[in-house]
Amino acid sequence: MAGGKWVYTFGDGKAEGEAGMKNLLGGKGANLAEMSNLGLPVPPGFTITTEVCTHYYDNGKNFPADLAGQVKVALAEMGRLTGKIFGDPANPLLVSVRSGARASMPGMMDTVLNLGLNDVTVEAVAKASGDARFAWDSYRRFITMYSNVVLDVDHGHFEEALEDYKERKGLHLDTDLSADDWKVLVGRYKDIVKKALGAEFPQEPQEQLWGAVGAVFSSWMNARAIKYRELNNIPASWGTAVNVQSMVFGNMGETSATGVAFTRNPSTGENALYGEFLINAQGEDVVAGIRTPQDITEVARQAAGSDKPSMEKAMPAAYAELCRIYGILEKHYRDMQDMEFTIQEGKLWMLQTRSGKRTAKAALRIAVDLAQEGLIGEEEAVGRVEPGALEQLLHPAIDPKAERRVLTTGLPASPGAAAGEIVFNSDDAEAARKTGRKVILVRVETSPEDIHGMHAAEGILTTRGGMTSHAAVVARGMGKPCVSGAGQIRVDYAKGTMTVGPTTLRAGDFITIDGTLGQVLLGEVKMQQPELSGDFGILMGWADKVRRLKVRANAETPRDARAARDFGAEGIGLCRTEHMFFDEDRILPMREMILASDDKGRRDALAKLLPMQRQDFVELFTIMQGLPVTIRLLDPPLHEFLPHTEEEVAEVARAMAVTPDVLRRRAAELHEFNPMLGFRGCRLAVAYPEIAEMQARAIFEAAVISARETGKPVIPEVMVPLVMGVAEFDLVKARIDAMAKAVISESKTELTYQVGTMIELPRAALRAEEIARSAEFFSFGTNDLTQTTLGISRDDAGSFLGSYTAKGILEFDPFVTIDQEGVGELVKLAVERGRRSRPRIKLGICGEHGGDPASIGFCESIGLDYVSCSPFRVPIARLAAAQAALGAIKAKDA
Ligand code: PEP
Ligand code: MG
Repeated sequence: MAGGKWVYTFGDGKAEGEAGMKNLLGGKGANLAEMSNLGLPVPPGFTITTEVCTHYYDNGKNFPADLAGQVKVALAEMGRLTGKIFGDPANPLLVSVRSGARASMPGMMDTVLNLGLNDVTVEAVAKASGDARFAWDSYRRFITMYSNVVLDVDHGHFEEALEDYKERKGLHLDTDLSADDWKVLVGRYKDIVKKALGAEFPQEPQEQLWGAVGAVFSSWMNARAIKYRELNNIPASWGTAVNVQSMVFGNMGETSATGVAFTRNPSTGENALYGEFLINAQGEDVVAGIRTPQDITEVARQAAGSDKPSMEKAMPAAYAELCRIYGILEKHYRDMQDMEFTIQEGKLWMLQTRSGKRTAKAALRIAVDLAQEGLIGEEEAVGRVEPGALEQLLHPAIDPKAERRVLTTGLPASPGAAAGEIVFNSDDAEAARKTGRKVILVRVETSPEDIHGMHAAEGILTTRGGMTSHAAVVARGMGKPCVSGAGQIRVDYAKGTMTVGPTTLRAGDFITIDGTLGQVLLGEVKMQQPELSGDFGILMGWADKVRRLKVRANAETPRDARAARDFGAEGIGLCRTEHMFFDEDRILPMREMILASDDKGRRDALAKLLPMQRQDFVELFTIMQGLPVTIRLLDPPLHEFLPHTEEEVAEVARAMAVTPDVLRRRAAELHEFNPMLGFRGCRLAVAYPEIAEMQARAIFEAAVISARETGKPVIPEVMVPLVMGVAEFDLVKARIDAMAKAVISESKTELTYQVGTMIELPRAALRAEEIARSAEFFSFGTNDLTQTTLGISRDDAGSFLGSYTAKGILEFDPFVTIDQEGVGELVKLAVERGRRSRPRIKLGICGEHGGDPASIGFCESIGLDYVSCSPFRVPIARLAAAQAALGAIKAKDA
């Protein structure tokens, strides 16, 4: 790939790139170019493309031959615009070198600031700025960062040297150090590097630059970036770009500052500028959360009760400029923006803008508001909310009636509430999670190394850091509750304790955090399901207008059915009748039925089950008020129902009037090596048709009763599970039809019903044409179809599937997201073949994939009629179905 264009410049009201070039320039680079084109104040610089990253990894970490020449030209252009020269001893240009991938990966990769400083240029900077303290402070920051990022010298060494120096001199804060102090420390820092590497700290700016560029490209493959990509489905092949930009300084005294701002509140979505800034600081001070930042607006300062002045008050001119710019940016991008800025001696510079990460609540409100403000259309608003993010809105909050024993408060960094045992490090969090324990990760501050621990924890609590600190940003993205900056807490990692005043808690003690209010509570506090806001209803209404797929729920209990309706389900797609028998008072007759050694025993047990079943169905039909309800005949994996303990054996034996020994023998006969491939599904009805008959009777009688009571006709859909061909289906269907006839004649009522089947076995998919001659509907049971197509046990996959996704053999867990190439092919084929013999056959999916947004996209593409999923995923499915329909419309238009 020699002879390519590797470098794109920006600055001074123009740029070679633009916002649409994210794949090539990364998000940061593309938006810096766009802001330059908009005439906004952006320090001049250039972007080295993501293609160079790919080239770098494909060629043994070597750059393209013509890159150096292009960088030289770009540096000269930066020099022309700034009036400085890179590497010049008298008038040096200093630069920042930052990563910037296509998708935002906050804090995952490396950054170097103040590059170009050395023993000579530091003096020139001191002279030009008239501030020797600033110059030497900048130099020591550069040595620390560069050594850490490029030379791999642990920054702990520098911190130790600094603390040691301060202690000896009796100084407390970094701001107490003078130019001479920093000068001495720079000498010590250089000694540290020399000792660690056996070489001097590089003085040559060109060498510094190429070292930093290489380090940023290398950081694409560091462990935390890899982990982040894995969690966020970002392919390694994308690569990162590198942005080299002339430095502006937020640490040149009281008229300088640096900050982060959002054009709307990223937690609530409120339409008001929101953010934090620090006077006399560099960017990393805000992000790292080392000092607690100040509010930007006066309203926010008052709300927080802070005594530190807001930016609005302290720097009114720069504040006005920021307001002007954010208005322009939001209108231009037509979305909430997350901006980084620096004020150097009163002048505001924009360092970044991007679509801001937000909570689901904020995403909803912003999408609805933007549409109502006329900036975007309703359909675009529907596309703006990630369906999976709605999960956040369905998280528990603390029960308002519960007693709150508030230990301390911090910042409400990410909404929702969570309770768990305290752990003090990420490895412990991950280990606890593996054993099924719930934990709250408590840290002084988090760093990108904590990503796995944050993922494993229910919630995150930090003692330092603001609303834009690492913990806050990452937790919000993950949808986990987070309280940050709880400054009264003293954490002692070595002892494994956290102390607030007289209270000391240890690892393993329970706490609850409320990320919406910023509270830390003692003990495990009771939770409550949240109410959904008006915005939710509005957006769902827009989604319902555009979606084609119907959304049903998998539900069998009245509680689930009601929840399903509340969430907008348009019917029940799967009622797993075997789940109706796990209750204490029902498991016994169920076990009697399974373990009966003859017809009579079985019929006696079934007679006990019939009234219970009928009552269940009456309730379901009544709740669903005439909406379709698909009831599946028993599909009990036997091992789930057999008695296990001696007590259970004795209880069933008593009920069946046999000895425990007889019962044990019968249970042993029924023992299976592969229960998932055993005596389940329609096989039960084939061997013992009276079971299907009892269920059919219960269904039809309930339909008659419910229709009479509610005045709404019930059209039950009776579903036969796990068929492999039409013969089984016909056999069972004949029994169902006969029972329908009997009930119709007994009740002297008309009854409409349908009989259909699940497609859960590859053979059923292959024989779909024949099956559809008899079956009035198909429901794809993709849980079993995945199990049987991939030959991977649903119950045992956990032990090895992780290696498959980690090694990229499978892109996703196929039990979560449908394996389109295999299982999906079979589904497609069954759809085609089924329609051949019954063109209007009703088609749905009721495996777990029915609630997975990516799989719903697939269901839309093959023209299923509905998806069915667990009640809490119904809103997610409605939104995903709408987005899938919009995607299909777009694809057709293109
Ligand atoms: C399926 O197999 O996809 C299905 C919905 O049935 P179950 O999960 O009950 O086996
Ligand atoms: Mg199944």
